[in-house]
Amino acid sequence: MKNFKKPNSKQYPKKSFSSVKPFIYINLAKDVTRNNALTHESIKANYLTGKIKLQIQVMSDYLFSGSGNYDFRKDDKLVYYTFFRSSNKLTIPGTSVKGSVRSVAEAISNSCVSHMAGRKKVGRNKYKDDEKKYFSRNDSRLACNNYIQLCPTCSIFGTTDYSGKIGFLDASPLKNVKTEIVKIGELFSPKIVKKQRKFYQNKKFNPIGNLIPEKQHRFVEAVKKDSKFVTWMKFQNLSKNELSLILYSMGIKQDYNIKIGGAKPRCFGTVEIQPLEIELLNHNSLFSHNNMYIKKDLNFINEILENKDLLNKEIFKSFRKSMKFINDWCPRGNY
Ligand SMILES: [Zn+2]
Repeated sequence: MKNFKKPNSKQYPKKSFSSVKPFIYINLAKDVTRNNALTHESIKANYLTGKIKLQIQVMSDYLFSGSGNYDFRKDDKLVYYTFFRSSNKLTIPGTSVKGSVRSVAEAISNSCVSHMAGRKKVGRNKYKDDEKKYFSRNDSRLACNNYIQLCPTCSIFGTTDYSGKIGFLDASPLKNVKTEIVKIGELFSPKIVKKQRKFYQNKKFNPIGNLIPEKQHRFVEAVKKDSKFVTWMKFQNLSKNELSLILYSMGIKQDYNIKIGGAKPRCFGTVEIQPLEIELLNHNSLFSHNNMYIKKDLNFINEILENKDLLNKEIFKSFRKSMKFINDWCPRGNY
């Protein structure tokens, strides 16, 4: 008789490890390009200074930007982690947007490694793992350690003793954005440390289907798909290539999406970022209060995207491929 096993429909579909896990590893650049950092004391006429209004639209089923606190629902005493609020409004902190954009910029340019895949940060510039275990002492890819010679990402986003050239305002809801309490499998910190960068993919959220409290699960207050937020990115003294790198790192006018916020291993936080308004500083009228800024149309974005000198073409190609939406389930629990 044949050794026949009855299929069990309740069983999680058998897949190879690689298709079940919700993340991918992106190779590091072979080398880091460092240049003299610009000083901040003046606005330079041959660089770009201005601001871009951005719409952040949630493309995954949920986005969770945690407040670090929890609350409980009165009727059923359900304890859940709350969404961050500022002046009672749901808010995605600007620092969170900046952090997400930075990690992409680091990956797709010849930049230093400020975080290694799986390495746990335990304090300012302190890691649980000794990075020297993974890099030789003179490996150029170690984090920039002086503020005179900086890699593209540190020169744009800043590093210790260098404040950087861009900032994001807190993103506030465009309309009346509503939240939902979602049950998710507990998130475990990664165990494998690799000499690569780790990115969570854009897969489908796999709902648990009940709100019953159980071990190794948590409840989070998340905003739903299609929720829209608005923020401003302000920048000063950027070259066209630097602004271009930032736009690519936000996935602007691209066929891939980046992620913002928490619960990324549960495939939360996929967003589409779109420019709404662009204003550049008018260097000819710096001292008059009228016409300080010149409005640019959205063609300006296309022009800037042509400047690709800071992109590592090979890595960008693999990043782009890996961050497209995949019609595949995200794991509910451990993977
Ligand atoms: Zn750096």
